Amino acid sequence: MIVCKFGGTSVGDAESIARTATIIASRRDRQPVVVVSALGGTTNQLLQVAEQSAKGQLIGALRAVEGLRDRHLTQARLLLDPAEADEVSAELSAMFDELAALAEALKTLGDLTPRSLDTIAALGEQLSSVLVVAAFRKLGLPAEHVDAREVMITDGNFTRAEPQAEAIAEAAQRVVMPLIRAGRIPVMGGFFGAAQGTGITTTLGRGGSDYSASLVGAALQADAIEIWTDVDGMLTADPRVVEGARLIERIGFEEASELASFGAKVLHPNTIAPAVMRGIPVWVLNSRKPDGTGTLITFDAPRRSVTAIAGKSGVTLVKVRSPRMLLTEGFMRMLFDVFGRHHTSVDVVATSEVSVSVTIDDVASLEALVVDLRDLGDVTIERNRGIVSVVGSGLSDGGSAMARALGAIGDIRVHMLSLSASGINLTIVVDGEQVSPAMRRLHDEFFTSATAA
Ligand code: ADP
Ligand code: ASP
Ligand code: MG
Repeated sequence: MIVCKFGGTSVGDAESIARTATIIASRRDRQPVVVVSALGGTTNQLLQVAEQSAKGQLIGALRAVEGLRDRHLTQARLLLDPAEADEVSAELSAMFDELAALAEALKTLGDLTPRSLDTIAALGEQLSSVLVVAAFRKLGLPAEHVDAREVMITDGNFTRAEPQAEAIAEAAQRVVMPLIRAGRIPVMGGFFGAAQGTGITTTLGRGGSDYSASLVGAALQADAIEIWTDVDGMLTADPRVVEGARLIERIGFEEASELASFGAKVLHPNTIAPAVMRGIPVWVLNSRKPDGTGTLITFDAPRRSVTAIAGKSGVTLVKVRSPRMLLTEGFMRMLFDVFGRHHTSVDVVATSEVSVSVTIDDVASLEALVVDLRDLGDVTIERNRGIVSVVGSGLSDGGSAMARALGAIGDIRVHMLSLSASGINLTIVVDGEQVSPAMRRLHDEFFTSATAA
């Protein structure tokens, strides 16, 4: 049994959906379970609809709803026979009616809660999964729709819900397994689920369909998890930033996980953990080139000094200066307790004699966080920073990678540096707008220059 996840661009229109069906047809004997994202761009538009409505801009929001409706119904007509298209269109249209009603309610309320945001964001995958099931059937595949809310059980932390592994395993065995045994092809939307106990719709955070796929894969003890996307696999850098980024054919779980956490959007950062727990290999493949080698993520990948470069902007640096307390027992625990209490995860940490600097992505709780941190020392916040990371399982071997990285960075201002204890990730904090140039310089140093590793 394998899990195949198709991202937004792989199900963006009728042609891509048909290509997806061909890929699944070629894997029939491996008992595929399919996880789909929303049609490319849909989630962004849905979130905009929610925000516009809550701000009172109902006309614009409803126009966007109709645009989305049009797009989905057009693809249904292109994929299906007229009678089937009518039936599926009615089902999709009902969801758009619900969306329009939600937009009106939000306008009246004038307030957007994380809970309503999730109800709206999850519609993208609900729509795409219904459409894909109909298309698969039309193309001769015995697809069966599975409502993700029956399987993807989470806590109630809206917009970044925590999956409940045991409940998911139980539900997957109960709901999905019988379909596979009956020779059917289960198809479910990624990204969303339902809160345990209440059944209210939740989401796993942006890009979360990859995570859904690995959770389902782990729950069903799949033989492989395939992440089908719009690039050839995991590359030595984001090809949108670095020209000449190359395919990595094999990469370790840990390296892939670091890259995902530090900006390689091709995988949601949490995708790896469930796969590692069960030792399930993860493939990253290009749905436009189904015969490509792709990337295999496993335990036994070659040890390299540098495997890839990642980067992300929009990072906030938080510095706590406390000359007296820093070295006292329990200070670090108190410091990280504050971040824990505010559900804010820390990416990079560096300490000096008198201060601790950390970077965070999520500023939702920043104000409250700062208030609590002030109890520990003077707090400064630096916004618009970015992180570039050099990742390699053998990064610390020989010791020259660090010097080369800093040499390559040249005159770009460095705010903070950290080499992880495991020695597989060198992280450099720079100004936000310097992330792309820094990535290019590092990639050039390690992959394209005459002395490249
Ligand atoms: P999907 O909709 O299939 O989930 P995403 O847009 O979420 O696709 O992720 C694929 C994108 O990730 C690629 O188009 C690429 O621009 C970006 N990306 C960033 N870093 C990497 C990397 N190291 N290797 C491959 N792609 C990367
Ligand atoms: N559609 C969701 C998003 O855009 C989830 C995903 O594509 O993985 O964030
Ligand atoms: Mg994605």
